[in-house]
Amino acid sequence: MAVHLGGIALDLTFTNRFTTELPADPIEVNQRRQVHKACFSRVTPVVASAPELVAHSREVAADLGIADPTGENADEFLSVFAGNTHLDGMDPYAMCYGGHQFGNWAGQLGDGRAIALGEIITPSGEHQTLQLKGAGPTPYSRSADGMAVLRSSIREFLCSEAMHHLGVPTTRALSLITTGDKVVRDMFYDGNAAPEPGAVVCRVAPSFVRFGSFEILAAQHDIDTLKQLADFTIRHDFPHLPNAEEPTSDTYAQWFTEIATRTADMIVHWMRVGFVHGVMNTDNMSILGLTIDYGPYGWVDNFDADWTPNTTDFGRKRYRFANQPHIAYWNLAQLGNSLVPLVDDVASLQAAIDGYIAHYSTAHRAMMLDKLGLSPDRDADEAEDLVAELLRVLQLTETDFTIFFRRLAEVPSGAQAMSDEELLGFIADAHYTPDSVSAETKAATATWIRRWLDDLADEARPDDERKAAMNAVNPKYVIRNYLAQLAIDKSEQGDHSMVNDLLEMLRNPYDEQPQFEEWAAKRPDWARSRPGCSTLSCSS
Ligand code: AMP
Ligand code: MG
Repeated sequence: MAVHLGGIALDLTFTNRFTTELPADPIEVNQRRQVHKACFSRVTPVVASAPELVAHSREVAADLGIADPTGENADEFLSVFAGNTHLDGMDPYAMCYGGHQFGNWAGQLGDGRAIALGEIITPSGEHQTLQLKGAGPTPYSRSADGMAVLRSSIREFLCSEAMHHLGVPTTRALSLITTGDKVVRDMFYDGNAAPEPGAVVCRVAPSFVRFGSFEILAAQHDIDTLKQLADFTIRHDFPHLPNAEEPTSDTYAQWFTEIATRTADMIVHWMRVGFVHGVMNTDNMSILGLTIDYGPYGWVDNFDADWTPNTTDFGRKRYRFANQPHIAYWNLAQLGNSLVPLVDDVASLQAAIDGYIAHYSTAHRAMMLDKLGLSPDRDADEAEDLVAELLRVLQLTETDFTIFFRRLAEVPSGAQAMSDEELLGFIADAHYTPDSVSAETKAATATWIRRWLDDLADEARPDDERKAAMNAVNPKYVIRNYLAQLAIDKSEQGDHSMVNDLLEMLRNPYDEQPQFEEWAAKRPDWARSRPGCSTLSCSS
């Protein structure tokens, strides 16, 4: 229904299928508790005392049919997406889910600081759930406060939009609003808690259901609710599956196969752009294969397969860059275990899991060949070997993952005739310490480039066409950790210009943007070990 407040129109049509079709927690008191036989608890966002809009995504606003969020509708927009105004038709709730954290079953988790305002239908007919992150406590807040600080909200807001523009499946972010209230955090977990500005991000996705949404119900042996949630998800988010209205054992198996495929495709994208999620717990895995829950994530600057930004994970590095495909597989296995009660034959779930491995390796190989401007039809073993050798070479000396591929695109196919020094000149910008690269490393790098040139020669593709194709999959602009941190430093002083400039830059990550050239550079040396620039804690 259209809701008009004070003469201005935030024309949102609420459909709220999650809360009308699935079982609710019967208790409506907002107290922390274990919830049973329910998919969600109704809860109201806390009022922000002095909300201020830091940034918004114009694309998301347009998709949702929200006109002029900073002009005529500014007051209402701010109030609604700070959580202060309850529009007619909203049905706010927090979702119940569990999860495996760092490989261990953690029991009930749930939306501890995320409150969905409701689900709307957009002008183009899509269903989207609007969810405020940092809008106050819920029954799932356990010992925490339900709030979010500005620094982590900036990181979530910018990265959601950056990923979208990079072509990576992701939840979106509509708005970033400071609340005017302070939130106390011990950022380094060293006993020095301090007040920080609080903020709320409005996230947007067709569904926020996670692997853990099913795991909690299976763990509670609540097969009835498990089936209801699975059927709901299939009916609305996977309607193309056979018997989606009345799922059979085969429907569940095919559904799980598709979840595995989507998850594999998402991870392939992460590996393409150099993204490390940082906390791939099963509660942070979307059933739609969207990147979700941007916490202590990071972007690989100098390529290091073993890198993780998350200080909480330094001991085992479970969620390091190169381990992400394996963890996704492990997480799918946990989801598969939870779906066993729905199928006649466990082998069908096992087949989906096995399919993940095959699909991932084919899709990853095709993606890496794309990055290299080579045809996906090449011999698979040779292609794997070329890629493996490249990843080895990239680690011989600190080499910027993003810059390397952009520079490689510049190498002309006739470069075989050049000297090693000339060849290396093309990619020298990508090296962090170009003056101290050893002779062996130089030789190995040149050898690899020559091998790649040989492969290019087989395909005889015009250089300009090949360069355009490479640049369309190898971004020039990513949200390097230190850039996010610089924007945070300014915003915490009340200057939100860099958040907005970064958002602008990240809208066109594959294009040359001379006005943002300095932000395409390597991570500066001062940022090498500064917290926020290379390491992050979960405290947010
Ligand atoms: P995360 O590691 O951010 O995915 O969070 C794991 C669980 O902790 C989820 O259930 C979150 O909702 C919850 N959580 C994280 N931070 C807070 C917070 N400040 N207040 C309440 N719950 C939180
Ligand atoms: Mg989470």
